[in-house]
Amino acid sequence: MPTVPLRKPVEEVPVRRKAMPRPTAATPPATARKPKIRRIEERNCSVGRTIDVIGDGWSFMILRECYFGVRRFEKFHEMLHLPRNTLTARLRQLVSQGVLRRAAYTERPLRYEYRLTKIGIALYPVMLALMSFGDRWLKGDSRKPLQLIHAKCGKPCTAVVGCSHCRVEILASRTSYRDGPGTGTTLVAPGRRGRRSADPTALERRRPSSVARTLQVIGDRWRFMIIREAFFRARRFDEFEAKLGIAPNILSDRLTRLVADGVFKRVRYQVQPERFEYRFTEMGKDLFGPMIAMLRWGDDWLSGAEPPLILTHHDCGSDFDPTIYCDQCREPLAATDMRYQMNYTNPIAPPTS
Ligand SMILES: [Zn+2]
Ligand SMILES: [Zn+2]
Repeated sequence: MPTVPLRKPVEEVPVRRKAMPRPTAATPPATARKPKIRRIEERNCSVGRTIDVIGDGWSFMILRECYFGVRRFEKFHEMLHLPRNTLTARLRQLVSQGVLRRAAYTERPLRYEYRLTKIGIALYPVMLALMSFGDRWLKGDSRKPLQLIHAKCGKPCTAVVGCSHCRVEILASRTSYRDGPGTGTTLVAPGRRGRRSADPTALERRRPSSVARTLQVIGDRWRFMIIREAFFRARRFDEFEAKLGIAPNILSDRLTRLVADGVFKRVRYQVQPERFEYRFTEMGKDLFGPMIAMLRWGDDWLSGAEPPLILTHHDCGSDFDPTIYCDQCREPLAATDMRYQMNYTNPIAPPTS
């Protein structure tokens, strides 16, 4: 193991509160006009912004079809089997978020198809990171649904989230964080939180998918935020509650599910009165790769300002960008270099004859 001077891991990332605008004579306090709304601030974090884009499983599954080359509405509908109005809404949303763009493919009648933008193409490695996690932890006894072949080295490969400096796989325990120039908190818009995810089983109706399985574990926005805070060293109920501004019953429900799904284990830290904290299992720790891959993508494409967090890799002592590498040749993976071997047959494919 290389021995390098280690930066002391930051125990807690301080959250800076933005000053709220003071009411003036021209702008009376909001409470004078409206019923009081509980204001919630959350840590500036590209994972949060990323979840706004792919926060529900369907948007991600649509993108997955795009990476397989699907472009047209009818084909999306055939592959994903989701209600047409839901599909329309999700496609529109992905276009407004700049991930897809509409392009005419015939003039008469005028018809549009959906193509990936640069932002959408850059999301591809994030999908690979989610897929690797699902392949490693959630496939049960079955084979991986999809084997990646890296055209550059010609080998079957697995996507690894690595350090851009030394290319070694990134582990949460070998990484520390500090505030970047874009640190702070943002007021959460009402109605943006707690959006329901797609029915998890529906996501795999047409294609078995490790990405879908991973999204079942982390796809719900609240769960994702809880996992994120846990990587920021939160462990106890009241810590999660204070940092997320989450209602206790919702927090309790999500923690219970995260334990049931094997992301956290409950560990007793006090006997009288009995108290438990939540720590990552080995599987939970492995979510770090997908998390930081999302963070990187969000920093690159969704944040106008500087990155809110800077990551340091202890193995090489450098600040790094999470980058998705081929585990065989250690070259970064790009959508154009990937081939796929399907390890399943589509159970509802129409007969070919
Ligand atoms: Zn490194
Ligand atoms: Zn390779």
